[in-house]
Amino acid sequence: MGSKYKRSLKNYCKWCGKPTIMEEMLLSDTPILEFMEEKIDKHGRDRIWGEDGDWSSEDLDSDFEAELLVYDEMLNTISKKVVCISCLKSDDDLWKKYYRGDDDGYSDDTEIRFDADF
Ligand SMILES: [Zn+2]
Repeated sequence: MGSKYKRSLKNYCKWCGKPTIMEEMLLSDTPILEFMEEKIDKHGRDRIWGEDGDWSSEDLDSDFEAELLVYDEMLNTISKKVVCISCLKSDDDLWKKYYRGDDDGYSDDTEIRFDADF
């Protein structure tokens, strides 16, 4: 009974552990974590992720700095893994929320917008 469904749920999501029918994809080791992004916002996103963001020169508390280091490294470590559709969806939402500004559809990377304020 129900073996048909069980068989199709052969993979497990690397991020939340739920069974999923998704296949392996190239993804970072961690989804975007909202609580981390909130902390980054609190400390000033530009100062941390900005082009001259240099954490060591900022006075971040060392716990947060350590967290950031791990988070950054995991986000930048891409490998093949299975992630379920609901994780992908929420990761996508968080990505848009924190890294793409307004969710006005996909104006992709070919369009470079300069907010000239200098
Ligand atoms: Zn998942």
